This record gives sequence, structure tokens and C-alpha cells, in this order.
Amino acid sequence: MCCLPTPCHRLPRLSEELEVDLWIKRDDLTGFAMGGNKGRKLEFLMAEAVAQGADAVVTCGSAQSNFVRQLGAACSVLGMECHAAVMALPYSAIHGRPAHRGSTMGGNVLLGEWLDVQLHLYPDDDWEVLYTHAETIALELEESGLIVYRIPVGGSSPLGAYAFVRATEELGESFDVVVTPCSSGSTHTGLAYGLEGPRVIGVACDPEPEILDDLRTLLEGLHALIGEHDRGRLRTRLPELEFRLEWAGEAYGVPSPEGMAALELLAQTEGIFLDPIYSAKAFAGLLAMIRSGEVGGRVLFWHTGGLPAVFAEA
Ligand SMILES: *Cc1c(COP(=O)(O)O)cnc(C)c1O
Repeated sequence: MCCLPTPCHRLPRLSEELEVDLWIKRDDLTGFAMGGNKGRKLEFLMAEAVAQGADAVVTCGSAQSNFVRQLGAACSVLGMECHAAVMALPYSAIHGRPAHRGSTMGGNVLLGEWLDVQLHLYPDDDWEVLYTHAETIALELEESGLIVYRIPVGGSSPLGAYAFVRATEELGESFDVVVTPCSSGSTHTGLAYGLEGPRVIGVACDPEPEILDDLRTLLEGLHALIGEHDRGRLRTRLPELEFRLEWAGEAYGVPSPEGMAALELLAQTEGIFLDPIYSAKAFAGLLAMIRSGEVGGRVLFWHTGGLPAVFAEA
């Protein structure tokens, strides 16, 4: 479904301005259903769904989830029902509810309607509550006789992370540092596992330190999966995960001032768009680390896409 390999190219104007050798991996251009990082995960997840004979998939996320959009398109191709438990803006109760309201119109919601995604919209609440709603939907579908394939938020199962281990093989150049947005975690985890040379830094899009525990669990699951099915790619030691929280902003789904400044800088130097929720925050982190001298040499930014959600912000 994806158009791979995605381009990887230098950013000449920003490199000169920042006095580094800055490159970008264009996973905004994975092509399928308007691109983004989720397409890579779906190549593997949907193969597993097909192998299990699934009639329906169930996942969850925010109403403007990029994953739900691409999953809906994959379900169209494969003739499966697509169900997603969503909230305008799920949040982490222990960190409080953000004042910002997510949008349930336009953007990915509109594209989801065109794809006949069954969006089950619930009032905003904690992520744990959202997971429970998704499980209720899955059980109801099973009771009606369907075979259901469950996918965690953002496609972040070990198999989803494996897609990014494989993605690292597209890099022809070698880099000193790779920076990626990190939210549900399989992009960061897979890249960190797959890249033994460079320092891989995941910039959090949610200000929640507990996510690091989820990343470690995901990494162990990935290691076990590779040990079982792909021993040629097995690492002798698990990588340390470098997970940075400084640029996550106020909450998940809430744009940050630093992120918006980074988005405008990339647009105005290189003509490339970032999305405010994920890639802009990570790019803000990248810029800050370069400017402080913490990061230098040959640096790669992994662009994860996310543009369709911009059109819900109006
Ligand atoms: C989902 C998403 C991310 C985060 O990737 P994870 O693998 O969930 O950490 C980053 N950018 C965009 C645009 C996304 O849709």
C-alpha cells in the first residue's frame, strides 16, 4: 500500500543557517491515504489481520487520529469493517485535562467518513477509559459473529514497531543523530532498535514521563518478536531509549508556541510543512538541540506526516 522507499534528502538552507548537515526522511510521503508514518505499520498489521481471517478491526485514538484515517483506507482495500473508539481529545487524568478542545469535524474525521470508518465518539476522558470503550466494541462485534483484529492506539504493537526496524534499511547515508516524534511509541522504538550507529532521539508529543515505561515494554516485545521470527535482525543488546519531554507542550493534541515557530521556519526556508501536533514539536526539539550545541554533525529528522489534521484546526 505504501510507496517505498520514501525520499531522504538534505535541507540546504536550514543546514547553512544552523551550521549543521541536516537531512529529512520524508515519511510524510508514504503515499497511501495521504501518507504519514502509520502506513508502514499497517503493511505488517494488516497482513496479520488477513492471516487471522479478520472481518473487522477495532482501534482507538483521538477523533483526528492519522492512524484511523490510514487504517480506514487499508480496511477499504481489504474489505474489512473499521471501528475506532475516539474522543475529541483523550488525556491523561493524572496530568489533568487540557483547556484546548480537539476537533471532531473536518480533517481526518471527514476523510474517515468518506472511507466509511465507524467512529464511535465518546466524551473526553482518560486514555484508560478509551481503551475500555474499544474493548467493549470489539466484544460486541465478536458476539455478532465477526472475527476481530484489535490494534492498540497508533498501531503501536511490537509488529508496528518492527515496520520501523525495516524502515531503517532505507537509509543509504549514515547519520550521527536521528530525531523522531514520539507518541504511541512504535516509530521511536523501531528506529532505535534498527539503527545501531546513530544516536536516536524521540521527542515526546505528550508531556507524560510514564510513556517511557510503555516504550520499554514495546521494545521488549519487539525484541521477543524478532527473536522468534527474524533472528537475522536480532540485536545482542537492547538500545537505550533517549526520550525527551521538554518540547511536548501543554498536552497531547495541543499545539505549542515552539512547535508553531519550528513549523513556520521549515515552511519558510525549505517549503516543507509539518503538523502542529507531532512533527512540529519534534522539529522544535531538534532546532533547540542544534542551537544549544547538544546535537551536531550529520543530523536526520524523521518526518512522520500528519498534514490532514491541519484542516480541522481552521
Ligand atoms: C502517530 C503519529 C506520530 C507518532 O508516532 P508513534 O509511532 O505513535 O509514536 C508522529 N507523527 C504523526 C503525524 C503521527 O500521526
